[in-house]
Amino acid sequence: MPSAPPRFKQERVGRQPPDRKKSAHARGYGKRWQKFRKVIILEHIKENGPVCGCGCGERIITGFPRHPDNAEIDHIKAVYGPDDPLFWKEGNHQVLRKSCHSLKTVAEDGGFGHTHPSWIPKPISPVTIVCGAPGSGKNTHVENNKRPYDKVIDLDECFKIVCGQHGHRAQRQHLSGALRVRNKMLAQLSEEAHSHVWFIVGAPTEAERTWWADLLSADVIVMDTDITTCLGRVDAQRTDAVHRYFSEKSRTWRGSC
Ligand SMILES: [Zn+2]
Repeated sequence: MPSAPPRFKQERVGRQPPDRKKSAHARGYGKRWQKFRKVIILEHIKENGPVCGCGCGERIITGFPRHPDNAEIDHIKAVYGPDDPLFWKEGNHQVLRKSCHSLKTVAEDGGFGHTHPSWIPKPISPVTIVCGAPGSGKNTHVENNKRPYDKVIDLDECFKIVCGQHGHRAQRQHLSGALRVRNKMLAQLSEEAHSHVWFIVGAPTEAERTWWADLLSADVIVMDTDITTCLGRVDAQRTDAVHRYFSEKSRTWRGSC
């Protein structure tokens, strides 16, 4: 474990409503987006004709310059917000009819919504989020720094409640159950007072860490342990998870933190 992991003070946002209630501009859908949207739609029509990108065969109506329309830009891979490198990334957009786009969003919220529960109310106690790869020393850091009555929330421990096995050994089929338990624990923080809460989560990208920090009004600690050290610490069946973490991390590496 590195002796002094970098600590990022996140601005406390108090009882600010969740992201989706921010203005269109704050969510990244301002003027720049409107221009971008038009380019994407025109390119789509040039290549495919005025049809929905989902394959339903229905017509899209663009409405340019300012008539009502039903064409929407979908992020193929879900994004955390305008700071997410995937937000503007070439190839991560498709043009869908409004109704097909809503259907896709609802379907995604079943999966993405479990791992990223934006509905969780603000905790009333101070929260520190400890991020990093498997084997990076997240648990050790929490063990060394928590006080006797602090609350620790760790998905791996939630697996025990669901199937009796720690997350490192549990079958993946129990993941959604474990996520439900974890999300319930996170939601209860809006009513339960604790001296301090430690929340352990991988969160390889800065965008994801910022998303969690905003959601929980929390400080973030990143265990910036190198891949060789991490691999040396985990069991054979978890080496894939280490590699996944580092490839996610490098995908969006921008030289900061
Ligand atoms: Zn469609």
